[in-house]
Amino acid sequence: MEKTNSLQNYYVGVDVGGTKIQASLITAFGAVVSNHRCETPRNATVEITLNAIEESIRTLLHEQDRTLDGITGIGIAVPGVVQQETGLVVVTPNMNLSGVELGQIMKDRLGVPVAIGNDCNLGTLGECWLGSGRNTSSCVGIFVGTGIGAGIVFDNRVFSGAGQAAGEIGHIISQLPCEHWRHGITAKMHKQGTKSSKNGLAKFTRCGCGNYGCFETFASRTAMERFIREAVEHGAKSVIREVNGGTLDIIKSGSLAKALKVNDKVVTPIVRYAAQVIGYACLSVRHLIDPEVIVLGGGVIEACHKFMMPIIDAVLANDQLPSAPGKRRVLVSSLGDNAVVLGAVALVRSANGSNPLGKIHRIIPKYPQLHIMGENVIYIADEPYAKDFFILSDGTIHPRAKLPKKNVDGFRLKDIETAAGGGADLIIFGTAGAGEVALSGKCHEYLFRRGIDYRILPLNEAVHLYNTVAVRRSAVWHFS
Ligand SMILES: [Zn+2]
Repeated sequence: MEKTNSLQNYYVGVDVGGTKIQASLITAFGAVVSNHRCETPRNATVEITLNAIEESIRTLLHEQDRTLDGITGIGIAVPGVVQQETGLVVVTPNMNLSGVELGQIMKDRLGVPVAIGNDCNLGTLGECWLGSGRNTSSCVGIFVGTGIGAGIVFDNRVFSGAGQAAGEIGHIISQLPCEHWRHGITAKMHKQGTKSSKNGLAKFTRCGCGNYGCFETFASRTAMERFIREAVEHGAKSVIREVNGGTLDIIKSGSLAKALKVNDKVVTPIVRYAAQVIGYACLSVRHLIDPEVIVLGGGVIEACHKFMMPIIDAVLANDQLPSAPGKRRVLVSSLGDNAVVLGAVALVRSANGSNPLGKIHRIIPKYPQLHIMGENVIYIADEPYAKDFFILSDGTIHPRAKLPKKNVDGFRLKDIETAAGGGADLIIFGTAGAGEVALSGKCHEYLFRRGIDYRILPLNEAVHLYNTVAVRRSAVWHFS
């Protein structure tokens, strides 16, 4: 039943992470056709890492019966400081690609145009192409995981700064490590020394970057791990070890979510604190850049956004600094793991002169024209459809799995996630019968947090809307 629009151009996006490499085959209009994941080699030589990246691309293509001849460009994301123009990796703290001309080497090895960029920059670019940052002129993406990174996109392009280090939001100093001057004065006043430490830094946690007082030492997953371990070591009772497979070495984001669910007395206040700190970081971003949209993503947000977003909203709502009324929103990432690879493809398309975020090259998929016959049959090019199906935002048609009996007239979160994929601005739910199907709170929240509009309509009205509306759209067709 699957149908694909005719596509000439395929691209590959690669996300080289500290633990995993993801290579994805992606169409010109951003449909992720297939993913290949493998482990990043540990403590390896440069050559071994380069081979692993090359191999991930070749294996992806081999699995799809394709060759490099059919690939128009390859975008590669790296966690570190990257010179986009030259393809040079300046520094990768957690990997051994520092000083490597990754762009040129991969171009020579693969014979295809290659562009490289920073992973958080490209994650934001991906969200601006097809995710929660779409249709905006300014967007900041903040990704909360092991560390905290960000990307800035203005007018459809990454802003990477004079030293290619813009967006390092995790290392914005949020606790000033220079308060010791006060002790100096009071010590003289009281004529007694307060020789705590040489420069008063003892009470600060040193960040992985080497500085003190960085924002990510308060709100990253690593920071939360540290707070939780301290509390548990001091005897506080918590389910966290139990839900995290018996260990506190690495606490997964999913384990935090599980502990939140049972209102754990240790995890809940720590995640609440992290959410507040992230809220203040969003506030600082607003005061510096005032972007139309801030997109929050990364493992911690993916797992805990239901708990964290209202806290972040509250911090922002309490902002006292005056501003003109404007359309500013804080949304949750729509693309999850695919944001970076999609951004990588957007980057290589940009480098080739066809930036998919720009109006000229923005490809609106060819959507099928629908006809409704009688009450319960939709025709697409003379083919009848009388069982539930999706039309995704890239125009492809997919069957919808049967619903459990007790839930016949509802739409599940899984339906919403499927329909929202690929950058839909509008989701149309067409239902046979009265069309009086409401979305559950969970489903509504999912769409609201990603800025996606939706309509639930009787089949005939839904078909009319689908055929006439001029936005990137998807649809779920539900027959009784
Ligand atoms: Zn730092």
